[in-house]
Amino acid sequence: MKNLKQFNTFNLDVNCQEIVFLNSDEDYINFQKTSSPKILIGGGSDILFTCDYHGIVGITQNKGIEIAEDDSVYKVKAEAGTKWHELVENLVNRGIGGAENLALIPGTCGAAPIQNIGAYGLEFDNLCDYVNVVDKNGNKIKLKASDCNFGYRTSNFKTLWIDNYIITSIGLKLSKKWVPLLDYSPLNNLKKIPNLTPKLIFDEIIKLRMNKLPDPKYLGNAGSFFKNPVVSYEQFCKLRTQYNDMPYYEQPHNQFKIPAGWMIDRCNLKGVTIGGAQVYEHQALVIVNKGNAIPSDIIKLAKHITKTVEQKFNIRIEPEIRIYGSNGEVTLEQL
Ligand code: FAD
Ligand code: NAP
Repeated sequence: MKNLKQFNTFNLDVNCQEIVFLNSDEDYINFQKTSSPKILIGGGSDILFTCDYHGIVGITQNKGIEIAEDDSVYKVKAEAGTKWHELVENLVNRGIGGAENLALIPGTCGAAPIQNIGAYGLEFDNLCDYVNVVDKNGNKIKLKASDCNFGYRTSNFKTLWIDNYIITSIGLKLSKKWVPLLDYSPLNNLKKIPNLTPKLIFDEIIKLRMNKLPDPKYLGNAGSFFKNPVVSYEQFCKLRTQYNDMPYYEQPHNQFKIPAGWMIDRCNLKGVTIGGAQVYEHQALVIVNKGNAIPSDIIKLAKHITKTVEQKFNIRIEPEIRIYGSNGEVTLEQL
């Protein structure tokens, strides 16, 4: 048995049968062709292992960044095992703008397309040109961004193509006409700054995130445990009548995003603890491992949150993270 504690940011003490490190396309092809049960992970910052996994865990390790340009765009290629934040930092340090709102998101470039990572009004989708993958038969395929059906914390990689492809590298396209994205209220004050640069936004986002989010090095967590629900206009009106201070964000097609963190907080769940798992005091959307949590503590707490929110708001919030049992992916309901 091999221990996975250092490979999942919840810092859970779980095992698998074997760990393999994948450094090249050839490694990925061989991994895809193995008949044993297997899971591929990057930084382990968006997953919950609920018990020991009866199979092989592959870990992406191929690193590298290449940058080319033409008159209007920078074309960036990053290998799957490159840390996402290192890519953003590398671009910002070269004065290339466009990715800075996604600073300090943990994990790898290979995982970025899976849930279409997003923060502060920017999503991976807005930057993606292509995604290189290896399919189950070991064939290399270049997928266009438009093939991937990117949506709010989702893509075909999480739905239609689930577990079909390993992402080996990603391609981004960044316009040379940089436009700062400052619509999220914590960034509004930057609008006043003359000669704003990507680096200034990058630094501000790092500051905001360091103040608000737990660092997995010290407090195990996987970021937002749940997605923000997006509800219909009718449901939104009912809720808003009941809770007139409820924050909301209008979405396309007459839908409304309600911050799940606000709902959890409104249920007085901040700080609620089960065993070693706790609803984070500074951001209710995050569940933290206080140091001695076992997977069942996190599962019980997540179920308690889901049930309490549903009873109060009549909305079932869904996990954002991917959850694994002994034989592969499972849902919270199945546990
Ligand atoms: P992992 O957790 O290793 O894997 C996640 C899933 O992707 C797994 O199902 C895995 O099988 C699959 N996968 C991983 N790599 C590959 C690959 N190369 N090919 C195919 N499948 C693959 N997310 C956001 O969107 N926005 C945020 O602002 C954000 N903030 C966070 C803050 C904190 C403190 C933490 C802990 C997490 C945060 N996250 C955020 C969640 C997480 O960082 C991202 O989802 C990230 O992209 C996960 O990368 P990873 O390499 O750790 O993926
Ligand atoms: P926040 O500012 O407290 O806002 C709470 C929620 O409201 C966010 O989830 C965000 O949705 C939404 N929101 C705020 N301003 C918005 C606007 N102008 N337009 C549309 N939606 C808006 O959030 P936070 O916890 O500090 O996080 C800041 C950013 O980092 C968010 O974008 C969040 O997604 C991201 N983040 C993600 C994770 C993760 O694991 N997925 C973890 C930490 C932070 P969105 O989430 O849709 O942006």
